[in-house]
Amino acid sequence: MESEKMDENEWRYHGEGNKSLVVCHTQRCVVLRFLKFLPNRNMTTEEVYQHLQNILDFGKHVMKQFLGENYVHHGEVVQLPLDFLKRLCLRVQSERPESRCEKEMDVSGYAMCLPNLTRLQTFPFIERRPIFCIEIKPKCGFIPTSPHITKEIKKKVCRFCMHQHLKVAKGKWKRISKYCPLDLFSGNTRRMHFALMSLLQESQNNLKVFKNGELIYGCRDDQEHLSDLNELAHHLKPFFFPTNGLVSGPQSTMCVLKEFIQVLAATMLSTSVDTGRAGGFKSVPVSQGRNYCEAGHFYTEHLRNGKHKIETSGLPKGSILYKTLQAQMLDMLDIEGLYPLYKRVEKYLEECPEERSTLLLDGPYDETFFEKLKDLSMEDNGSVEFAVTKIQQYRVAMTAKDCSIMIALSPTTQEDCFDQKSIIKTSRSSFKYSVSILDLDLKPYESIPHQYKRDSKIVSHYLNREEPAL
Ligand code: ATP
Ligand code: MG
Ligand code: ZN
Ligand code: MG
Repeated sequence: MESEKMDENEWRYHGEGNKSLVVCHTQRCVVLRFLKFLPNRNMTTEEVYQHLQNILDFGKHVMKQFLGENYVHHGEVVQLPLDFLKRLCLRVQSERPESRCEKEMDVSGYAMCLPNLTRLQTFPFIERRPIFCIEIKPKCGFIPTSPHITKEIKKKVCRFCMHQHLKVAKGKWKRISKYCPLDLFSGNTRRMHFALMSLLQESQNNLKVFKNGELIYGCRDDQEHLSDLNELAHHLKPFFFPTNGLVSGPQSTMCVLKEFIQVLAATMLSTSVDTGRAGGFKSVPVSQGRNYCEAGHFYTEHLRNGKHKIETSGLPKGSILYKTLQAQMLDMLDIEGLYPLYKRVEKYLEECPEERSTLLLDGPYDETFFEKLKDLSMEDNGSVEFAVTKIQQYRVAMTAKDCSIMIALSPTTQEDCFDQKSIIKTSRSSFKYSVSILDLDLKPYESIPHQYKRDSKIVSHYLNREEPAL
């Protein structure tokens, strides 16, 4: 970026995760995404640059192929003046939530520049109208079936629901969420609505709402008002439930939220913006696993009401949920089946360390890399090649289990005459919308042993938890 034009006062803190910190421009629709490190990290500027370039390539040549051209914005790596970075770092520090401050923003000189997806819209001339953006981190939407699984519970209860117990026990969250990813990914309207309502009620880090680029709901545990559903409904009401004040109070809040949820579910099932071209990729076999989770609240409440058949409708091909789930299901062996393959590769590398680059373990993440992912065969011939292919597919799946879906909504009126395909209509409202996916960082090869340990920790905590008294 042109250094004389960089003024830290034009940027403000936008948000952060575990790996990166994001600032947004106050006028233009762009963000800068910086890496974050523990204070004693030892990555050189050159390594930071290479890492960002890998993230970009992975988004561009791998995830884009899976998820579709229109859903993915891979951005560009930019170099920034050091004095600008120092001042920017100071400026955003006070805005950061304390729980995230263990890591520091990287100020070595490079960042990723991306479109601001909370403000992104394809029709610039409706900019006068408000724009809402809903960010959902859906997590893993299927139950694994791998024969390598040793704990039966993993075939009944989904990872998210098990992990909730550990997170609450560790004090990360106060309450267990009723959200279960299998409900969201079921494609069934009632289950999806239940999942979205549960996300609104206990959003944790799985749901945020932005209005005109500003966070108005979710995920700032240090700010109570950001979890007040009445306040959220108040923001939404004029656009989602335009009545002349006939309904008010808690009833009104519920009506508005229901309308909102209906719109969200519709955008996630829509197929109009799909331009996926998974380059001759055969779709991953539909999971043979059960389509519900035994710990899911929809399921348990359903049973309590004496209904026995759980509904699934399946997802429309090309919808964002379908695409995300397909990528997630590239994890076909489960970490328990994958870990021995990791050890096979490690053993091989001990003997021939010079082979590391031939195996493409650290990229480059280009078309050749993508081509190699296409081999879905499950027959292990004992080779290092088989092990590497499964590891790479697992890494793609992990990325898809950790990404966020961004839904941008802008109210339209009957008079607006757009391409009807990109409009969501309900009986009360109509919105121009766009859907994208962010946070498509590749998961490192080195993190596999950590994933393996974490899996067993989550499962054993779940099995040994104390059942809440009924
Ligand atoms: P995680 O801990 O989930 O891996 P991360 O450290 O990889 O997160 P991101 O999820 O990429 O970081 O970014 C952190 C937050 O910043 C996001 O949850 C989102 O709210 C916001 N954000 C990131 N990229 C963009 C973008 N292009 N436009 C708008 N907001 C963004
Ligand atoms: Mg994230
Ligand atoms: Zn579940
Ligand atoms: Mg991430």
